Amino acid sequence: MLRALVALAVAATVSTAAQGACPADALGTARVLTVDPTAYPRIGRKHFPQTLPLRPKEVVLTFDDGPEPGPTERVLDALKRECVKASFFVLGRASAAHPALVRRELSEGHTVAHHSFRHPILNRMSVEAAQAEIEHGFAAVDMALYGKAERSPVTPFFRFPGFASNRALLDFLERRRIAVFGADLWASDWNPMTPAQQLALVLDRLEQTRGGILLFHDPRPQTAAMLPAFLRALKGRGYSVVHVIPPEKAVPSASQVR
Ligand SMILES: [Zn+2]
Repeated sequence: MLRALVALAVAATVSTAAQGACPADALGTARVLTVDPTAYPRIGRKHFPQTLPLRPKEVVLTFDDGPEPGPTERVLDALKRECVKASFFVLGRASAAHPALVRRELSEGHTVAHHSFRHPILNRMSVEAAQAEIEHGFAAVDMALYGKAERSPVTPFFRFPGFASNRALLDFLERRRIAVFGADLWASDWNPMTPAQQLALVLDRLEQTRGGILLFHDPRPQTAAMLPAFLRALKGRGYSVVHVIPPEKAVPSASQVR
């Protein structure tokens, strides 16, 4: 009981401190949405019939393929300045190489989710090899974040590299109670362009979809460079940011995060 009270007091202090650090005109995170994989096994209208229950002009910010020293740090700095929480679909290989960076993502309140170990095109491998690759990614990310990996990943969210899924792998993840994230729109930031072009393109797409699950790639310098202006534009245009998190039972207490 005492321990629970202390935990609550610490949580309240951390939350107040985080709010206190926000500039008055920060974009901020409007609300937190818990995504239960049993209710939402596959989401994102680009590939699936269902998406998250978002209101018009609500955006879920997601970043794939990191962490990458340099650009990922600039992305985190930009999010912090605007008091915005995002979701990072990280690679096991990159997380093992840069554990401090994925831990920074977690400690700054972001959701750290999964994107395989080394980013192969999973539907061009045997189902067994693809499953092993996915599991290897879960384990490497949780080892980097928590120093241990259990049978199920702490955050049961996965995005297929290149959106290359197939029925067998989707069924496998549904059985494992892992929510598969697609996207409602993306920045196409795998194509080289200037930060100004990148900003214009993504704002144009956002006006068309009126929000949704938005995919960026945090290792891309053009994305890191335009993010501060993008977040300012969200604020100016009346968009709000929704932070997606897994159901509570899956989230470890702060004392388990080292
Ligand atoms: Zn990717």
